[in-house]
Amino acid sequence: MRWKGERQSSNVEDRRGTSAGTGRAGSGFPGGAVGGGGIGLILLVIFSLFFSGGDLGSVLNGDTGDIFTQQAPATESVTGTDEQKEFASVVFAHLEDYWNQTFDDYGKSYHDPTLVLYSGSVRSACGTANSAVGPFYCPGDQKVYLDLSFQDELARNFGATGDFAMAYVIAHEVGHHVQYELGISDQMEKIRQQVSEKEYNQYSVRLELQADYLAGCFAKYLANETYNGKPILEAGDIEEAIYAANQIGDDTLQKQAQGYVVPDSFTHGTSAQRVAWFQRGYQYGDLEHGDTFSADNLNLN
Ligand SMILES: [Zn+2]
Repeated sequence: MRWKGERQSSNVEDRRGTSAGTGRAGSGFPGGAVGGGGIGLILLVIFSLFFSGGDLGSVLNGDTGDIFTQQAPATESVTGTDEQKEFASVVFAHLEDYWNQTFDDYGKSYHDPTLVLYSGSVRSACGTANSAVGPFYCPGDQKVYLDLSFQDELARNFGATGDFAMAYVIAHEVGHHVQYELGISDQMEKIRQQVSEKEYNQYSVRLELQADYLAGCFAKYLANETYNGKPILEAGDIEEAIYAANQIGDDTLQKQAQGYVVPDSFTHGTSAQRVAWFQRGYQYGDLEHGDTFSADNLNLN
């Protein structure tokens, strides 16, 4: 992707190198300060599972101590390079342009989300999280939380290299913000209170696949944009996104982690489904074709 010199979003909070991503460098805080455990943790689990894209399925490691009782170090080391930060900020700016324009086309108003960069752990309206949960979106404060080291993890653990793999991840998270703006997140929260966990997982899959679809729409938009007379997308960019989507499908992750798959536990969709919905977004680039909630066949074949 061509991006050097392009506009960087001003909606970026750089909390790297601060205590638990509070924005206060070097000021330690007592462990478990947020929510004191129970409710906060439950909310965090919910939001991690259902609103994050790169959380890669295995959220939280099942160890509550990691999140609420551990004393955060006074100062986290800064993860990510200046270049990675600039890249994420440029992608975020493109997403602002695209979604503002799209909502405008549909006669709806849109409010930009914020990108929070953090290192190690971070406090959000959804609770305190550490970077093991992967990038996530918190509807409570309309912010996307990203530890830039995730890009290295994508490459190292999932073989998903290339800058556009990361652009896809960011676009997926902003896709969740779009769902929030459209009122879909609220509906999901109501459904969650009415159905079993197993049933809710099926809704979650549809929510996640829709975020992949919306990321595909964004890719289509970028494919038609130029900067200084040159196309923004380069050869191989779309393939990088598709490869990343394939690598973080629930079935692929479970096979990797435990050697077998448990379809009822899927929350993000299979690799085939994630790729299919990203590609569908890339094909149509509109909101009409992204209704994963009424689709009969999520594999689209
Ligand atoms: Zn997601």
